[in-house]
Amino acid sequence: MAGISWHYVLKFIITGDAAVGKSSLLVRLTDQRFLANPDPTLGVEFGSKLITIPEENKVVKLQCWDTAGTESFRSITRSYYRGAAGCLLVYDVTSRQSFQNARSWLADVRTHADPHLTCILVGNKVDLCADDAARRQVPTEEAELWAKEEGLLFVEASAKSGVNVDAAFESACRDILEKIRKGV
Ligand code: GDP
Repeated sequence: MAGISWHYVLKFIITGDAAVGKSSLLVRLTDQRFLANPDPTLGVEFGSKLITIPEENKVVKLQCWDTAGTESFRSITRSYYRGAAGCLLVYDVTSRQSFQNARSWLADVRTHADPHLTCILVGNKVDLCADDAARRQVPTEEAELWAKEEGLLFVEASAKSGVNVDAAFESACRDILEKIRKGV
């Protein structure tokens, strides 16, 4: 008989402006790849991955949903948020606008999602600042401060290089498991 392959199934959603790299983060998480020119009409909608959280001695089956292009129509409905335990709120560190818009995405999340949902703010595309610091439009400290004020976890990542992508999902999972353990 097969043993337990996971302890929890957690639904995650990814929100944020178009082109910040939501699909790319999902592809990086589930497929360890990066597509330089993804077809915008073929947005990745769903990905699943097993993640081990050693501190909690638990295996989590992460089921992650992407908005797959619908963000431009602001047509994301309550059903998208229903049952979500975690949320990646993504902006692009080279786009001030996408960071400013993260406020309204967060407002959407707060309106529709479970109040206990764990949300991690992800500043994506840090690889673009590695060679050319002038491309950065959102200072790390500013995003970190805003995340703290709003009670969000925070990380800067790159779907292209892969840096901090697994770590972003893992830290959100760790936070969710801690809430479960404490009965929140
Ligand atoms: P979405 O609309 O938010 O799902 O964004 P996509 O995942 O479709 O990405 C939009 C564009 O940004 C694509 O051309 C991606 O190849 C590119 N992109 C996504 N993530 C990164 C990243 O971490 N670094 C760089 N340099 N480009 C990225």
